[in-house]
Amino acid sequence: MTVGSVPVTEFPPQPDLEADPHIGKVLLTERQIIDRINELGRQLTADYSGQAPLLVCVLRGAYVFLTDLARAIDLPVEIDFIAVSSYGSSTRTSGVVRLVKDLDVDLNGRHVILIEDIVDTGLTLRYLRRSLQARGPLSLEVCALLARESADLEGLGVRYVGFTIPGDFVIGYGLDVDERYRNLRYLALYAEADPTRGAD
Ligand code: IMP
Repeated sequence: MTVGSVPVTEFPPQPDLEADPHIGKVLLTERQIIDRINELGRQLTADYSGQAPLLVCVLRGAYVFLTDLARAIDLPVEIDFIAVSSYGSSTRTSGVVRLVKDLDVDLNGRHVILIEDIVDTGLTLRYLRRSLQARGPLSLEVCALLARESADLEGLGVRYVGFTIPGDFVIGYGLDVDERYRNLRYLALYAEADPTRGAD
């Protein structure tokens, strides 16, 4: 496809990256993810009609989701980033949430949508909610790409969720193990959780 004289190409395949034996079963394909994000984008566009919501991306895991979601929303959104750390360098939560980078934008009087990669125990979300709510936003909602089946979404006040998934550790589409695999374009099981490799 070309736009004017500039060729616009699909991203090339990632065979070298995908040769990694730790990449397990594919849970969500790139197509499934994008289709669902487009639905979420339409829903947010309708729900925030006439407003300019502030998308607060929780680094680092949500950065890929943010870029696709923001472009699926037909509103003049603004974007800021906050970074927290609850996982050390392993696949287990440390149980402690630490603020690594704060926002630059003032939340006072803003409609804020917190963009999360995955709601697991809800520890991170509870911490972020408390912190952001104290800054006087007009509204604060949460949009997570993924949520564990076990997560109490109502109790945590999560209004928008892309997919509900089981308890296994997942990688790709922004989610990592020790900072790796974020650039996979789909969501896969981490092979330590399910060593049987292969899509579907
Ligand atoms: P929670 O505080 O237990 O809800 O954990 C939330 C954070 O843990 C997410 O924002 C992720 O960064 C990380 N996390 C939880 N589960 C996974 C996973 O399966 N893969 C990668 N990161 C995960």
